[in-house]
Amino acid sequence: MKQPETNGRRVFLSKLLGGGVAAAGALMALRTPALARVLEDKDEGFDPGEREYVFVVDVQKCIGCGNCVRACGIENNVPEGQFRTWVERYVVTHEGVHVDSPNGGMNGFEAIDPALREQAINAFFVPKLCNHCAEAPCVQVCPVGATFTSPEGFVLVDPEHCIGCGYCIQACPYGVRFLNKERRVADKCTWCYHRIRRGQQPACVTVCPTGSRSFGNVRDENDPVTQVLKDDQWDVLKPGMHTQCQVLYVGLPRVVV
Ligand code: SF4
Repeated sequence: MKQPETNGRRVFLSKLLGGGVAAAGALMALRTPALARVLEDKDEGFDPGEREYVFVVDVQKCIGCGNCVRACGIENNVPEGQFRTWVERYVVTHEGVHVDSPNGGMNGFEAIDPALREQAINAFFVPKLCNHCAEAPCVQVCPVGATFTSPEGFVLVDPEHCIGCGYCIQACPYGVRFLNKERRVADKCTWCYHRIRRGQQPACVTVCPTGSRSFGNVRDENDPVTQVLKDDQWDVLKPGMHTQCQVLYVGLPRVVV
C-alpha cells in the first residue's frame, strides 16, 4: 500500500477499512517459529481475529512524572539504564528546540534552567515507545524470524530465537530498540503483550495519573480509543517513513519528530 508523504491519518484509516495490510503481515509472520510458539500458547478465550489495537498518547496531558517509565521497568524486568518506554521534554525557543530525557524521565524532571525558561515559547513532554508498525522495518530485516508480527498486530521479539545481531535496532526509524545488556538479545516495548492476553492494560497505562496514555481495540465501538479515531485529530511520528505506526499522538506539536 502506497502512503502519502505526510498524512499518517489517511494511511491508518485506509488500513482499518481494508484490513489487507494486517492480513498480509499475519500471513508472512506465520512462517516464523516464534509466531508458531505464540499461537500454540493461545490463552483460553483470547481471539486475536476480533482485535486490532492502537496506543494513544495525549501529549497535552503528560506531566513528565515518570510513573510510566518506572512501571514499565518493573513489569518487564528492564535492565537499569535501558528503557522500553521513556519521556522526552521539549523546550521550544526562537533559536531552536532543546530536548532532554534524564534517565529516560524515570525520576521526573528538574525545573527548566532559568536562562532557557526565559527564552521558552513552549514546553511539553512526549512519551515514546515502540509504534508496533504495520509495515515494520525491524520485522523485515530480522534474518532468523525472531522479530515478528502477532495476529493482533503486536510487533514482538522471541528471545529464544534472537541471535543479537542488532539489524532490527539499526532498522527501527524511531530508536526504540536496544540490545538487552543482561540477556544479549534485542528488546523493546511489547505493549505488555503478556498483560493484554490476560485482559489487562499495559503497565504504563494503568499508572498514568492524567490519562495521557491509553490503549484499546479499534474494532470495539465502545472502546475509548475508537472515539480518538472518529475525532481524527491525531498524528504519528515521522509519517514520511511510511511504517504505519499504531501509536497515535494527540496534540503533538509540529516540532516533534
Ligand atoms: Fe519495529 Fe521500530 Fe516500528 Fe517498533 S517502532 S515496530 S521496533 S520499526
